[in-house]
Amino acid sequence: MVSGKTINLAVIGDPIAHSMSPQMHNAAIEAAGIDYIYTACHVKEGHLQEAVDGFAALGFRGFNVTIPYKQTILPLLDALDDAAKMIGAVNTVVIKDGRKKGYNTDAAGFLSPLKAQGMSVKGKRAVVFGAGGAARAVLYGLISAGAQCLTVGARNEEKAKALASSFQEMREIAAHEWHKESFAAAIREADLIVNTTPLGMHPGEDETVPIVWDDVRREAIIYDIIYTPAVTRFLREAKEHGCKTINGEAMLVGQGAEAFHLWTGTEPNRQVMTDALRKALQSKQSAMH
Ligand code: NAP
Repeated sequence: MVSGKTINLAVIGDPIAHSMSPQMHNAAIEAAGIDYIYTACHVKEGHLQEAVDGFAALGFRGFNVTIPYKQTILPLLDALDDAAKMIGAVNTVVIKDGRKKGYNTDAAGFLSPLKAQGMSVKGKRAVVFGAGGAARAVLYGLISAGAQCLTVGARNEEKAKALASSFQEMREIAAHEWHKESFAAAIREADLIVNTTPLGMHPGEDETVPIVWDDVRREAIIYDIIYTPAVTRFLREAKEHGCKTINGEAMLVGQGAEAFHLWTGTEPNRQVMTDALRKALQSKQSAMH
């Protein structure tokens, strides 16, 4: 029951009505039996600074940040964790004694289903399709978990190279246009192949990244960070090829679980969060039909 003592959490974005974070977090709050509440706040263009200051003034414990504010919020915060600094984006803010610290939990979220299934990426060769914001978080996660050999492929080679060189102080990353033989060579050797592009996401279910499945080792893990649909064409073809697969649902739950822990100091029940996310997705889908 919400009372005068209830601690506030939120997610901000523009738009925000589509967010499933309130369902996911409130289910975890209820399961943990802690006195928190999580709401969605629509912060319109030009009001980010007021919103951030307002959360601190109102005594919120913290908030999640989504599109379009993941980068623009950086200069408004008092401190950043290493992941947020390196990824250049914040998805979680913790407020303590009025000080606002930004975190990025996407990399830890990306790693969590691999960890949960006992799959270590230490010393492994990984290939990433796509060179956008999610690819940056995935690459940071792979580097921090000790992946040895990293390759990024994108339709735009310049963007792939720019992304790779932004990590040069941490690790050398190879970058190629994704139809090139040099990229195919990396695919042939890969232990883990990740799609971070929106190709295959609803309503474009027929689409996929360019990959020759005969080139892919059957022991390779194929990971698509898309979560709608649950099984993309990329994952369906990977399964047909005999590979183990992971979809984006656990990454989404994982980034939320990491944020939950930062705010509350409590480890949430990830199954409860997953069930709430699936339910929210289902009701969203039936509302559209
Ligand atoms: P982004 O910054 O826009 O980057 C998207 C990347 O995909 C870019 O490299 C882009 O290439 C490429 N791309 C986009 N459309 C393409 C097309 N039609 N053909 C070829 N390449 C294309 O987006 P993002 O934030 O990285 O998000 C990417 C995906 O990850 C989305 O589907 C998002 O839902 C998903 N995601 C999932 C989670 C999770 O928790 N599971 C978290 C974050 C993101 P150009 O630069 O050339 O356009």
